[in-house]
Amino acid sequence: MAKKITTEVVIVGAGITGLTVAYYLSKKGIDFRIIEKSAHAGGVISTVKENGFVYETGPNTGVLSQPETAELIEELKGLCEIEIADAAAKKRWIWKGNTWQPLPSGFMAAVKTPLFTFGDKLGILAEPFRRKGKNPDETLDQLVLRRMGQSFLDYAVDPFILGIYSGDPSYLVTRYALPKLYNLEQKYGSFIGGAFRKGFEKKEPRAKLATGEVFSIKGGLQNLVEALTTKAGSENILLSFAEATVIPHIKEGYITKGNWNGEDVELNSRYVITTTGSHDLPALLPFVNDEEMAELNNLLYAKVVQVTLGFHKWEGLPLDAFGGLVPFKEERDVLGILFLSSFLSGRAPDGGALLSVFMGGIRKPQLVDLPDKDILGILDKEVVAMTGLQSFNPDLIKITRYNHAIPQYGLSTGERLKAVESIQSSNPGLFIGGNFRNGIGMSDRIKQGRELAQSLPL
Ligand SMILES: Cc1cc2nc3c(=O)[nH]c(=O)nc-3n(C[C@H](O)[C@H](O)[C@H](O)COP(=O)(O)OP(=O)(O)OC[C@H]3O[C@@H](n4cnc5c(N)ncnc54)[C@H](O)[C@@H]3O)c2cc1C
Repeated sequence: MAKKITTEVVIVGAGITGLTVAYYLSKKGIDFRIIEKSAHAGGVISTVKENGFVYETGPNTGVLSQPETAELIEELKGLCEIEIADAAAKKRWIWKGNTWQPLPSGFMAAVKTPLFTFGDKLGILAEPFRRKGKNPDETLDQLVLRRMGQSFLDYAVDPFILGIYSGDPSYLVTRYALPKLYNLEQKYGSFIGGAFRKGFEKKEPRAKLATGEVFSIKGGLQNLVEALTTKAGSENILLSFAEATVIPHIKEGYITKGNWNGEDVELNSRYVITTTGSHDLPALLPFVNDEEMAELNNLLYAKVVQVTLGFHKWEGLPLDAFGGLVPFKEERDVLGILFLSSFLSGRAPDGGALLSVFMGGIRKPQLVDLPDKDILGILDKEVVAMTGLQSFNPDLIKITRYNHAIPQYGLSTGERLKAVESIQSSNPGLFIGGNFRNGIGMSDRIKQGRELAQSLPL
């Protein structure tokens, strides 16, 4: 006989999205359970303290791009505290021709930089006068070529997209992948003119919370996970919940079956909110018809390997920046390097350094499957060349592989979003969240989690 649990809401997945849903439900006094297949809460977020270093194996930082993030962390004060990245994080380096170049942030720097061609620099002056695009499904590379030129695509947008999506601008559709950029052109007719005019627009007080700053949590992002777990009540989080399957109840609501602590369990609930990857949904929601499920499940994900490197004594270049990104055109084997100890406190011993190196992505997925020794062989060459070290002898090495790291919002996104709407409307009480829609960043996840909790008619 299966153990029976009755609750109002079942949340599938205890990543940042699921935990945010749980937090806002608990604030409203609504009974819920989270089921989580792994043995820990946080999803891809995980902070490790080891050998004098504090590092993340998943996301390293977020951006305060939504007011919901600032509000949530403020509400959790006392349990966790925000850490705004040091000013060094405002500087980004781009690899070109065997050296780093700063990404220009002011007019004179933009005129002088060797990253962009003279023709494209001149051409950018005409950007405000170019006609706005009419194709809503235009890919990012098409948009950038139309408005800015090839060198801006290669040395600004391509590395920027590597940093966010580990992706390819010729695959991503701007209105899904970078909706703010798409809207800037659609609303103001130009990026430069739009950014300028937006700067003068009056902002609602709440919108001012979205400062765009890079943030972490003091002591690591795991402290945010723990704060949310405490607020949601750890007794409501069923970790190591295996083989979950949701089926519609004959009358109303859903039965979620699975195995927990060696026991068969059935959760009866009126609502189910999923926050998993799209690839997890076929097994979880077997009642959804194959055609609609195929629209969710044909999503392309970037595979990524993150290698964390710790040095007790740093003897390379002064790392006075957020990190460096390596454009695809440069034909190197790393996507980028984050200089974490340069802008977050307490990540490495004094005089030391903590770096995170990313490899793989949409255009080099085969690197993720290499054995550790081959990955380290590549890093021996690349990290030494890019950081000015004499030799590659880190005091800490941690390799983490992700086969479904970052969903790519390409042309199929429109059909996917329609399928989600259709599945939800034919299955009242089922809500499908997760990072395959509404944005991949942690701030987007927090916003979606809060909205999901608020959308329940309870
Ligand atoms: C390597 C890496 C680096 C990143 N860097 C950044 C960054 O710097 N900044 C940023 O903002 N974002 C970054 N991101 C993206 C961001 O971290 C994620 O989009 C976000 O954390 C996803 O949260 P989530 O809760 O939606 O999903 P997840 O964290 O994936 O959580 C989903 C949970 O559902 C569980 N689950 C799945 N199937 C089932 C099932 N059948 N039953 C029960 N449980 C199930 C999973 O075990 C998991 O715990 C990064 C992502 C990765 C992988």
